[in-house]
Amino acid sequence: MEFDGSVLYRHAEKTGAEEGLTQWMTLHCLRCSTVLGDSLSVCGECVNSIVCLRVTGDVVVSETMKSGSKGEMVDCIYSSLKCRGCRFAVGSVIHSSPPGLAAVRSMFLLHKTNITCYILKRSAMVNASSLTFEMKHLRASMDQMQQEVEAQMDLLSLCQSRLSNSGVSVSQSF
Ligand SMILES: [Zn+2]
Repeated sequence: MEFDGSVLYRHAEKTGAEEGLTQWMTLHCLRCSTVLGDSLSVCGECVNSIVCLRVTGDVVVSETMKSGSKGEMVDCIYSSLKCRGCRFAVGSVIHSSPPGLAAVRSMFLLHKTNITCYILKRSAMVNASSLTFEMKHLRASMDQMQQEVEAQMDLLSLCQSRLSNSGVSVSQSF
């Protein structure tokens, strides 16, 4: 057998068992374990929080807006996110920010210290703080994918030119 999947297996090992962006998981409130989101909606990590495009209906956005005066949220206008189950503050959503945080405005930021993750493959609950959700890992995967697509395109071009040279029409008109 020419291909036994070992290449893919090795790649999965190399990217690490603890990388939050490469594993299927659900995100839970640290205090009451209510499900707040899942890894399909995670798009990175910022200000020690998991950046989510979507969360479940059990995440309540506080109507009160706050102004950050210190730390990473300085000069930001944001609202707290609370767990519907136990009212625990699980994160925030930034409405207005300096340019450095512009990319995560209006997204759901779940504070890693207040979140636990249930990793489906391992059937294990771990603290989000022990996982990495940084975009650079996704970037590396995308770069590799782009290289593979470009290699396939080169191959297609080669096939097309060989067909042209052999007199076979590759025109798409019928
Ligand atoms: Zn809770």
